[in-house]
Amino acid sequence: MNPLALYLHIPYCLSRCHYCDFNTYVLDPPQSREYVRALAAEVRHYGAALEEPRQVETIFFGGGTPSLLPPEDLCALLEACRAAFPVSPGAEVTLEANPETVTAAAFATLLHGGFNRVSLGVQALQAGLLHVLGRPHTPARAAEAFAAIRAAGFRNVNLDVMFGLPGQSLRDWCRTLEGVLALGPEHVSTYGLTVEDGTLFGRLSREGALRLPAEGAHLAMYREAIRVLPAAGYRRYEISNFARPGFECRHNLTYWRQGEYLGLGAGAHGFLGGTRYMNHRLPAAYIAAVRSQGIAVATRERPSPLEHAEEALMLGLRLAEGIDLSAFTVRFDLQDPPIDPSALARLGGLGLIEAHGGRLRLAEAGLTVSDSVIVELAASLVLPAGIHA
Ligand code: SF4
Repeated sequence: MNPLALYLHIPYCLSRCHYCDFNTYVLDPPQSREYVRALAAEVRHYGAALEEPRQVETIFFGGGTPSLLPPEDLCALLEACRAAFPVSPGAEVTLEANPETVTAAAFATLLHGGFNRVSLGVQALQAGLLHVLGRPHTPARAAEAFAAIRAAGFRNVNLDVMFGLPGQSLRDWCRTLEGVLALGPEHVSTYGLTVEDGTLFGRLSREGALRLPAEGAHLAMYREAIRVLPAAGYRRYEISNFARPGFECRHNLTYWRQGEYLGLGAGAHGFLGGTRYMNHRLPAAYIAAVRSQGIAVATRERPSPLEHAEEALMLGLRLAEGIDLSAFTVRFDLQDPPIDPSALARLGGLGLIEAHGGRLRLAEAGLTVSDSVIVELAASLVLPAGIHA
């Protein structure tokens, strides 16, 4: 059976963080109960509708703040997945959580219900920075939440942390990394802040009222992460993700390797049979669509072979393993070599990329300018004769 990943979106949080542009809303309990019923119905619909049986290898409950829902509801949703799909006995089942919602009792229920990985949003270990971000928890609460997750029995935990925050110094960031290492999770995700339209930070930025670290300071923070975390035994397997051996996030690796996945829930994206789709974003519209049609697809698109190849390149180069050039050439029916040799020579000469054993990857110097390197390589794909972009 071909593998499949499931993503279930829980679009509720206690409050909106000042930087967040995810599809999430302040918790509305009557609606969230309806939402859980709709999500279970969508799971059942896809389970019955798939033409060939698929082995589910990973399930990811993301948000939003999934841990805001009662643990019994989350376990019932996981049970609905198991009833609708053959789920591998060794499947990775992740729950995203935020510190203010974590109790050892709830997480013991979740572990018992089949969740085996937790991704906890810590973001910073300075009360002032958490306040600036609009996070509703303190550094102490984050540490307590981690201890509660461990006490419940979870042995695979990711901590999310952010750098490039307003008012954050390199020293703050080093302290956050030290604090995270002292907790000893299996996985660490480090995100550089990006300011998005439609957020409080977006408005403050337009008004000139958001003071971010200078570009050099932002880069110094990233460099510190890629120095400190590997030195402590966390391998950088993706630009922003670090794991102890064997604890890489299998679900996210599916995205980066362009595997197939079903996105379930409001605003979720899926990729199946060469088609991408996105569900209705608003929970009320999503619930209404599932009630009437069993699914809630708002848009569908079928990427062209070139778009598909560009995406594979962009995602694959995020990984430390890079891409296998000959497999890439065959998969997308490109010319050999699949990338303009002059672009490879130029970027290689600058020390930004490296090719070894038939694989192309970003060199360490390329990590800090990864976006522009990847865009240049994608623009240098060599199409087969007769095919035009
Ligand atoms: S907790 Fe996460 S999903 Fe919720 S508002 Fe904050 S950043 Fe967004």
